[in-house]
Amino acid sequence: MEQIAIYLRLSKEDEFVKDESNSITNQRAFIRGFINKNKELRKMSVVEFVDDGYSGKNMDRPDMQRMLELVKRKQISCVIVKDFSRFSRDHIEQGKYIEQIFPFMGVRFIAINDNYDSADYVGGIGEIDVAFKGILYDFFSEEQSSKVSLTLDTKRGNGKYIATYAPYGYVKSPEDKHKLVVDEFASQIVKRIFKEFLSGKSMYKISEGLNRDGIDTPGVYIAMQVGSEKQLARYREKKPLWNNVAIGRILGNEQYIGTMIYSRFKIENVGDKHAKALPKDEWKRVENCHEAIISKEDFEKVAAMRKENTCASAKRKHETHCLTGKMICGNCGHRLSHTYAGRPKYYCANHYLDKTDEKCNISVLDADIESIVKKALQMMIDVLVDSRKVVDMQREKQAERLKQAEKHLSDMEHSRELIEKDLREAYESYKLEMTDKETYLEQRKTYEQMLASLQENIEKQRAAVTRMTDVDVPEVAGLEMLEGQLKLTGFNREMVDAFVEEIVVYAKDRVEIKWKFRDEFGEVGKARKP
Ligand SMILES: [Zn+2]
Repeated sequence: MEQIAIYLRLSKEDEFVKDESNSITNQRAFIRGFINKNKELRKMSVVEFVDDGYSGKNMDRPDMQRMLELVKRKQISCVIVKDFSRFSRDHIEQGKYIEQIFPFMGVRFIAINDNYDSADYVGGIGEIDVAFKGILYDFFSEEQSSKVSLTLDTKRGNGKYIATYAPYGYVKSPEDKHKLVVDEFASQIVKRIFKEFLSGKSMYKISEGLNRDGIDTPGVYIAMQVGSEKQLARYREKKPLWNNVAIGRILGNEQYIGTMIYSRFKIENVGDKHAKALPKDEWKRVENCHEAIISKEDFEKVAAMRKENTCASAKRKHETHCLTGKMICGNCGHRLSHTYAGRPKYYCANHYLDKTDEKCNISVLDADIESIVKKALQMMIDVLVDSRKVVDMQREKQAERLKQAEKHLSDMEHSRELIEKDLREAYESYKLEMTDKETYLEQRKTYEQMLASLQENIEKQRAAVTRMTDVDVPEVAGLEMLEGQLKLTGFNREMVDAFVEEIVVYAKDRVEIKWKFRDEFGEVGKARKP
């Protein structure tokens, strides 16, 4: 289960100290930035846990408990915080989780500012001592956290609104922040969008109209309401425009008919890669929770119309092109859009939404950009990379990794023996009538849970060790050794992700490629554009 939990916390004390860098927004941006720069982490899905207004002196925080519950269910493989103090200000608690529980559960822990990454420390959990056993017992005893989720659920079940921001079209009632009231201006825009769609206008045409009339997007509008200066500054720099996604989000939001929805996602099954969106009929709903902006009939009509549309468009769907997301407009800085229609190409959507913006009239064919990037990349490799050295370094690294992985595996196997021994002893005590049945069953349940967790990690570790011994030279994404030289073997998403930071397009024939280089290339990382 490759899922990252990012944990953010802000307490009253922090606000008092006025350290801007600790604001929730900054913690989030900081951690997201860190993830984006890390090739391995970037591939994993992210779930966020926020405790705003809670002290770090104890673990009694709703989102902390929610996160630990997922750890217990083995749905989190990595926890990231800005620094240790965000996780806990109690050193004993901190040590308990970071040195014992997380390693036992196979969870990697990263505290960015403290330069701590548990992946750097090998040896795993080692021998299980008495104190550690007690900790595991606590961790697996069920009561604590179920209480917390119970209160959260009741709040929602009563029709109270607990999300941070009201959905576009509503504001939180000044008297009761758990209630939604209609926002005069934004609700008119919501109505306009539904009306135009029902009259047969395409989502594209609707966006075009809203942009022409200078209507702020929901993001900008909400940022203005809640007075987020930073967000607004960012928006001023890159003015967002209405588009199909924004329109679709509004047309599909059931909250406009007065229904409150919660539990839209679940991450229950071990092995699930993402928080799965639950099918609509499994959402929990409270009807007539707040004033409706759209009638139920209109909403259902729109849903039916959209269903027809998506079936048609799904048929035309292609795979995502390998440079998607990397291509940037040299004029406005927006990501370029991609189309397979006609001759497949990248273009700046700004120009299509606002035809007066001539500078954004930028487009480049897939075939052209691919050949430019390929040539440039091979050139970089020929000139700057000492192929032998790369391969030797890879081999060395691999050997070291293998050694550590094997040690970790044997530590875990030893721990398993110790727990099994405890389980046998518990049974013997019971047989000799030194403990009663109830106590024994309780002990057995806890030991079995511990064993199950450990067993799963042992199997994962063993598979990892096998995989590592199978490889001679670990692969450098998309490259192959040919006659002592590294050659590009293909052109695919993996390779693009490994080498290309972004590609800025100024004109069809003026393109700037920003490289990123993996550590393996050492000093080459300093090289910039050719
Ligand atoms: Zn542009």
